[in-house]
Amino acid sequence: MYQYESSKTLFERAQQSIPGGVNSPVRAFKSVGGTPVFMEKAKGAYLYDVDGNQYVDYIASWGPMIMGHAYEPVVKAIQAKAEDSTSFGAPTQLEIEMAELIKSMAPNVDMVRMVNSGTEACMSALRLARGYTGKNKFIKFEGCYHGHADAFLVKAGSGLATFNIQTVPGITAGAANDTLTAPYNNLDAVKQLVAEHKNEIAAIIIEPVAGNMGCILPEPGFLEGLRTICTAENIVLIFDEVMTGFRLAAGGAQQKLNIQADLICYGKVIGAGMPVGAFAGKKDIMQYIAPLGNVYQAGTLSGNPLAMIAGYTLLKELKENHAIYTELEQKTVYLRNGLDRVCKEAGIPYTINQLGSMISLHFAEHAVTDFVSASATNIERFKQFFHAMLKRGIYLPPSAFESWFLNHALTRDDLDKTIAAAADSLKEII
Ligand code: PMP
Repeated sequence: MYQYESSKTLFERAQQSIPGGVNSPVRAFKSVGGTPVFMEKAKGAYLYDVDGNQYVDYIASWGPMIMGHAYEPVVKAIQAKAEDSTSFGAPTQLEIEMAELIKSMAPNVDMVRMVNSGTEACMSALRLARGYTGKNKFIKFEGCYHGHADAFLVKAGSGLATFNIQTVPGITAGAANDTLTAPYNNLDAVKQLVAEHKNEIAAIIIEPVAGNMGCILPEPGFLEGLRTICTAENIVLIFDEVMTGFRLAAGGAQQKLNIQADLICYGKVIGAGMPVGAFAGKKDIMQYIAPLGNVYQAGTLSGNPLAMIAGYTLLKELKENHAIYTELEQKTVYLRNGLDRVCKEAGIPYTINQLGSMISLHFAEHAVTDFVSASATNIERFKQFFHAMLKRGIYLPPSAFESWFLNHALTRDDLDKTIAAAADSLKEII
């Protein structure tokens, strides 16, 4: 039987000096209730908390742990690199090698600028799109999350969806006025916005496969339609591949779905869990960034050697061993089929969305294709399911509005254990 006594004690203590006891809101378990589990260590597919409980991990640090936790080549590379200093504030050869590696894997990338988080990547890509086009407005999609920069916190997914935060105090009308929103998968709504704001729209930013309202797939023709509109209207198409980049394929969603973006944002994956992000694209746009151009963007710790060596080591492995993606997808389809079977046996309404190693289980019969349909699922049932799974040693995202991420270290036994736990959990909660 799982005990959480040490986590409870730490959570009490944390709340005295950290807002809500956490450094990022979804971690607080506020929406699912109960005490957040404080982690001590992780190896491969398993997490170990401060009470000595072991979990099969389906968060993978929200994406980056593609090869599993504490992946030995990455750990060794970081250790060795740290001997040579943890930061220089000056250029290094490793940053070139990292940029070249990303270019060799990701389509439509001539140049890469490293930053320190996904938020920074999206915020900077938007500024660049505005600087490049000389236009101010942009379109984002309801339920998509692009980090916590002011302009993006309008109808956003992830924690804002989880906590049902509609408007964020502290964001000025000025910052939000240029943000236009459309429902995901709704090309007509985009066409209408573009017509209403002719020659005013700098960018359309999208998660090409959404992971911040559960996992939601683009319907056939949707991304292609965005591409056509952007090309016709001189709008920069920004793919936010913070979750999908180097996860869905070596070339990310661009490669997996065969769509070309103008700017691409990367995040956590390219640091193998170290704090890092990047935005990238063709030279004609990227050359507007300082010091080549006047669109200013900078970072004291950008290109940090520990983050670079961690990311480089992971990406190199992903580049050289393509079987990883096939195997990851096989594992995810196996899990999907298992969940499908046990949900059917339980006789509950459900929908499973999956692509590559991203998957989510929605408790509703209707297709989950956008934020409205994701919100209309049985969130209460998800909360119960989350806790039932947790006490059976399965660590799912603590929100119905987050994708699950599989890692390559998961074994057939882990997947069978997860499917059996899902069957038991459904019996318990129905
Ligand atoms: N974009 C997407 C698609 C994300 O999922 C996230 C974070 N989950 C971000 C941007 C922001 O990244 P970060 O938390 O590293 O700032």
